[in-house]
Parts: sequence; C-alpha cells; structure tokens
Amino acid sequence: MRAAGPAGESETVNEHYDVIIVGSGAGGGTLAHTLAGSGKSILLLERGDFLSREMDNWDPRPVFVDGKYISTDTWYDGDGKPFQPQVHYFVGGATKLYGAALYRLRPQDFGEIKHVDGISPAWPLDYGDFEPWYSAAEQLYQVHGNGGEDPTEGHRSQPYPWPAVSHEPRIQQIHDDLARGGYRPFHAPCGIMLNEADRPRSTCIRCTWCDGYPCLVHAKSDADVIAVRPLLGRDNVTLLTGAEVTKLETDPSGRTVTGVVVTRDGNREVYTGDIVAVSAGAANSARLLLNSASDQHPRGLANGSDQVGRNYMFHNCKAVVALCTEPNDTVFQKTLGINDFYLPTKDYAYPMGNIQMIGKSNAEAMRGEKPKLTKLSPEWTLSDVAKHAVDFWLTTEDLPRPENRVTTDADGNVHLAYEMTNDDEAFRLYGELRKILNHTGMAEHHVLRKNFYMDMDIPVAGCAHQAGTCRFGTDPATSVLDSNCKAHELDNLYVVDTSFFPSIGAVNPALTAMANAIRVGDHLRERLA
Ligand SMILES: Cc1cc2nc3c(=O)[nH]c(=O)nc-3n(C[C@H](O)[C@H](O)[C@H](O)COP(=O)(O)OP(=O)(O)OC[C@H]3O[C@@H](n4cnc5c(N)ncnc54)[C@H](O)[C@@H]3O)c2cc1C
Ligand code: SF4
Repeated sequence: MRAAGPAGESETVNEHYDVIIVGSGAGGGTLAHTLAGSGKSILLLERGDFLSREMDNWDPRPVFVDGKYISTDTWYDGDGKPFQPQVHYFVGGATKLYGAALYRLRPQDFGEIKHVDGISPAWPLDYGDFEPWYSAAEQLYQVHGNGGEDPTEGHRSQPYPWPAVSHEPRIQQIHDDLARGGYRPFHAPCGIMLNEADRPRSTCIRCTWCDGYPCLVHAKSDADVIAVRPLLGRDNVTLLTGAEVTKLETDPSGRTVTGVVVTRDGNREVYTGDIVAVSAGAANSARLLLNSASDQHPRGLANGSDQVGRNYMFHNCKAVVALCTEPNDTVFQKTLGINDFYLPTKDYAYPMGNIQMIGKSNAEAMRGEKPKLTKLSPEWTLSDVAKHAVDFWLTTEDLPRPENRVTTDADGNVHLAYEMTNDDEAFRLYGELRKILNHTGMAEHHVLRKNFYMDMDIPVAGCAHQAGTCRFGTDPATSVLDSNCKAHELDNLYVVDTSFFPSIGAVNPALTAMANAIRVGDHLRERLA
C-alpha cells in the first residue's frame, strides 16, 4: 500500500485505478483485502483517519458519556428534527467500535418469513450460496465459536478457526441453569484474538472494555486490524484517509462511472477507476448515490427503480439489565447466546429473535439512567447496581418498509424516516427473557430496561446495525443491485456494505457484510482477470 501524498494544489488529480473502493469498514476493508492479492491497482478512499490509540479507548466516560468516537454529523429524522447519528468515521468504520459478535444469518433468513407486521422478503441467493463465504470470513476474522451448539445454525463446511470464548463463572452458572430449564444456550461466536490456551502470548487480554469501545491493544478482529493494515506496504494498494467522496460522475450514456469526486484537505480531487465499489455504510452509500443525481440519473445514481435509500433497517433492539442480589464479577460477558425464540414456537406463530449478552455495565456509563435505577433499588449506589447487573441484548427483526428511507436535502444532508415494526415480537421476546431469568435466580421484578448502551434521545440515532437502502435482487424494478451487487443500471458500479441486505434477520450483521465482500471480491477478481 502506498502512503498518501499531500493533497495537490490543483483541483483535479488524474490518477486511474483498476478498482476504487469508497469506505474501509466491514464491506470496503474486506473487499480491499480480497482484491489486494490480484495485483490490480486499488484505491481505498476513507473519509476518516486511523483511530488514535489512547487511554480514552478504554474509558467509559469519553466513549459512552462524551461520545468521543461518534461522528459529529447532523442528520434529520422524518419530522425534520436534527440528531447526532451513532456512526463512526475511521479506517475500519463501525467495526472499530463493534462488539465483534460475528453471527451467520440462519438458513431461514434467506427465505421469506412471515412476521406479525408483514413479510420479510426472500434473498435472491440462499444460505448454501453464502456458506463458503461465511466460512472464508470466519477464517479471516478469526471467529471463536463451537459449531453445533446453536440449534438454529445452518450447515458449515469448515469448523470455526478458534474454540469458543469460555464463559466466566457467573455466565457458566446462567448457562447451566438455562440448560436445566430446557433451554439451549450456546457460546456466542466472537471475533476477538484471545488464545485461552496460551494467555501469556494472547493478543487479547480479555478485558471488560470491548463492546462499544475501540480495542487499545488491537486485539479485536475489526476491519482496520484484520483487513486494511495488512495491506500497508503493498505497491498496488493506495489508502487515502480524510478523503470524503461527495459525488460519482458518469459518461454521457450514464452506464459508466467515470469520476469519483473527493474532498480532501479542503481540495476537490477526481479519481477514475475501471470498477467503483461504494462501501460507505447503508445510510452514507444511499446518500452518495442520491447526491450523484444527473441528467442521466435524475432521481439519483442507479435509482431508476426509486429504491435507493428505501427499506432501511436497523433491528428492533432492547438492552436489558437484570439485577440480582449476588454480585456479577464477569469481566468479558459477551459469551452466551440464546436462539430458542429465533423461529416460531408452538406458543407463538412468529419469530421473536435472538438473545445475547452485551458488555458489562459500569457505573459511569449508567449515569444517564440514574433516576430509573435509583427507583428500582433506592438503597444502592450506581456502583452497586453495576456490580450486580447482568446485561442482555434482545434483537428482533425489523421489516424493510419502503417508507423507512434515507433521502437527502438540497445541501446533501441525510434525512432518515423510520417507523419501528414487529413490536409485538420484541415485547414477547422480552417476556421470554423475564421467564428465563426465573430459572437463573434473577427474579422478574428485578429486570428493567436500560438505554445507555445506545444512549439515544430518539430511536433513529442508534443506527449501529443499519442495513438495506440498496437491496440486491433479480428484478431491476424492485432492487438496486443484481446478485453480484453490481448496480442494475450501470456497468462498473458496485455497492458492497450492509446496503445490499433485502432483509436483516435477527442476528448481528457484520459477518454477513464481510462474507458478501469476499464473495463480490471473488467475482471482481474473475471479471478483472
Ligand atoms: C457500537 C457498535 C456495536 C456493534 N456491534 C456489532 C456486533 O457485535 N456484531 C456485528 O455483527 N455488528 C455490530 N455492529 C455493526 C457493524 O459494525 C456494522 O454492521 C458494520 O461495520 C457495517 O459495515 P459497512 O461496511 O456497511 O459500514 P462501516 O463498517 O461503517 O464502514 C463504512 C465506512 O465508510 C466510510 N465512509 C462513509 N462515508 C464516506 C464517504 N462519503 N467517503 C469516504 N468514506 C466514507 C466510513 O468512515 C466507514 O469507514 C456494531 C456497530 C456499532 C456502532
Ligand atoms: S476483550 Fe480483547 S479484543 Fe476486546 S477490547 Fe479487550 S483486549 Fe481488545
């Protein structure tokens, strides 16, 4: 990878590349990694910089209270109300902060699913088509897990490259209690570089500052550390940071992207590439296409179908704290998953979703919830509450509604209209968790909602799991991308991030974005050969 030179004085830089990739997160970073070995010249354009290594990485006050690593962007909700979205502009994108729970979608997620509020549509490819790419992504991102424990998982052609991260005693106890109660808890798949057989030499130190924090010791399998950094020094890959792509220009036919317009150091630069892959995250990829409207594409680039920006999803989620009288001394808590309610049950005709653990509560991050927590346990300080908390994350699938959409205004800003779906399923999943807690010595009345994990004033701000906006499909009238993630209406434009999801399932999305990037990268290697 060649170092970025200083921005030129001139307005236009006429450098041509075989492939230009916009964004270096789960999609773009993984795509660059997949293509690098081809020898083709690759330009990776990232609007952020490398995330600084500093003690603040592992301090809940700057991370959760001050939002130090959240972009300063202002977006607007459906009523035009401004908010600060939880998006992260760094090399590695949102994966710098993610919890590294690296789940595959279930086989059923690729088919049509009936939900209480409507239909989750089928994908143009099925689980079998994705399976080899999931395996490749698990190898690349060093996923730790135990195949066969999760009752809903599909077949796998390769075992996980690492054994599952072990439960600490309190979580093991919850696991055992649940198993005795007839549930089927499993070890959650996880992308941390922990070698439990050789702790002195393990890159990961198994700390409590993982989920929602950057990893100070670079032991989290994020797209920066795993995919982009290993390319540094390669002659055929150039990374430009601080390079925000603002527009894509086409030839007069409208079929070929000919110019990638970048703002860098206050200058306007234009790059050209045989292939252009947009991987800016679901909202920002839609924003870029919509802001690239032209005479040939009056509704936005690749948007003859009027589908660009639509079908935005980000999961119907709840973070829940369960308090119990005995302390919870767990350090790394995100080791347990429960999928007993992922598919319809005999008592409820619809899928409810996934239950997993999240990072351990701490008093600093709970400050915003103080009034509620004090009401629950008046005699406890926030430190007491945090010490006794066991933290769960509940995920229900939300539906790809056409009205849930990204649009842009005259200044190019993101407007995000969103209405939640499947609340009844989410409510029932919460009810199932409360029943579960009875099996684990955590009484029902000691469970409360917590919001600090997302720390949001309005629900759309927590867009960590954003997906949709440029769905892939076989029909150009109802989808933006074909099954290779190439825009139906253009010959050299691809979108390779979570935008392509036609539905989101109820497990975390990053592994699917990574697997798809490897899949599309393989297609591009063939195309460019
Ligand atoms: C706090 C948090 C916790 C999470 N936990 C999990 C988890 O445990 N498991 C999981 O599967 N998922 C998790 N996620 C979600 C996961 O990180 C995302 O699904 C994934 O990173 C999305 O990949 P992407 O390529 O679509 O976007 P991103 O990874 O966000 O990458 C987009 C990149 O594009 C860049 N960019 C944007 N606009 C432009 C532009 N105009 N020009 C140039 N560059 C641009 C951005 O700076 C960014 O680097 C979490 C997310 C957050 C925020
Ligand atoms: S648990 Fe491991 S990967 Fe996560 S932040 Fe701590 S050292 Fe990094």
